[in-house]
Amino acid sequence: MPKTYLMIPGPTPVPNDVLREMSREMINHRGPEFSKLIAEATELLKKVFKTNNDCFILTASGTGAMEASVVNFFSPGDKVVVGVCGVFGERYAQICSAYGLNVVRIKPSLGKGIEVNDLEKVLEENPETKGVFLTHNETSTGVTLNLKELAPIVKRRGLLLLIDAVSSLGAIDLPTDELNIDVVVSASQKALETPPGIGMITVSPLAWEYYEKAKLPRFYWDLKKAKKSLEKGATPFTPAIPQIFALRKSLENILSKGLENNFKKHIMLGNAVRKGITSLEIFKLLADEKYASNTVTAVIPLPEINPDEMRKKLRQEFGVVLAGGQGELEGKIFRIGHLGYIEPSDILVTLSSIEIILERMGYNDLRGKAVRSAEKVFLEG
Ligand SMILES: *Cc1c(COP(=O)(O)O)cnc(C)c1O
Repeated sequence: MPKTYLMIPGPTPVPNDVLREMSREMINHRGPEFSKLIAEATELLKKVFKTNNDCFILTASGTGAMEASVVNFFSPGDKVVVGVCGVFGERYAQICSAYGLNVVRIKPSLGKGIEVNDLEKVLEENPETKGVFLTHNETSTGVTLNLKELAPIVKRRGLLLLIDAVSSLGAIDLPTDELNIDVVVSASQKALETPPGIGMITVSPLAWEYYEKAKLPRFYWDLKKAKKSLEKGATPFTPAIPQIFALRKSLENILSKGLENNFKKHIMLGNAVRKGITSLEIFKLLADEKYASNTVTAVIPLPEINPDEMRKKLRQEFGVVLAGGQGELEGKIFRIGHLGYIEPSDILVTLSSIEIILERMGYNDLRGKAVRSAEKVFLEG
């Protein structure tokens, strides 16, 4: 296989020491080695979630963890408010609808986030609301919400607050306990530098109170089963053991480098990508500056540039893999993932490759511009 630069917002590249963990020989998932593994991985994960709440590792992609956050805490007909800033917010709304919840969407235009006033207004108009679902980092548009402002609006009313942090956990600060967030879901394959296959979820005491009253059907996702098993050092069903070995290693790596340093790295990568891309003057950023994500950047090209064609050339000539648009943005944008095991060198290769492809497409006066802008960000540190 040619050398690949996987610059998509998940799955993301996995460091070699983490990959090697997956080639360990198999163990009994009801034996002492696994008990130690699951206990250690869960404790490390709590540090990344910044929580003392219960935390469970699920054998699922992120969507499975999202579904778990719906079926454990609600009853048919419950009213919930869902922030829909793109495809993943819409997915939360659809999971809620599939289970018969009464969904009220807050849907800003694409590239915008949710404002305190919008949320306040919807909650005032819907006083019977039981819970609020928000996507911390909307991966389809590159929009990050300001949870420090939004969380208190929900918590002041005593409602359950549930956050999708699949493409932010570990890369963008999410102080779960400080903000009183009841339920946070994430997944292994984005900023956590681990292959796909596991989801995770945190559960606050208030969420457990909701659990006791919730009437939605649940079996595989029943978190009381997970809690009882974890107390005995196990999981209710056969877990993805190789991924948990890998996760433990990657969490050790991230925490030993320092979580706050990792946030800083992502701020720098996000800045470099945005400065680099906009310096070319033929691209626009989809997300408003105030919501700009430090893990993924969605880019709108001039109408005469087909983003999917451009991505194909980048992949074929340089092995640089970018993501396309999702949902109504399909064929209209491209997205650069800059999360997890991505370093400044990867950004420089990506921007340089884009410049060369653009020059081949006839844009002759761009060479060096994006790289230079990114270099400036890296030099400033
Ligand atoms: C990737 C992602 C998900 C989950 O996707 P899976 O493919 O099920 O892992 C959910 N929410 C966001 C914001 C994501 O980026």
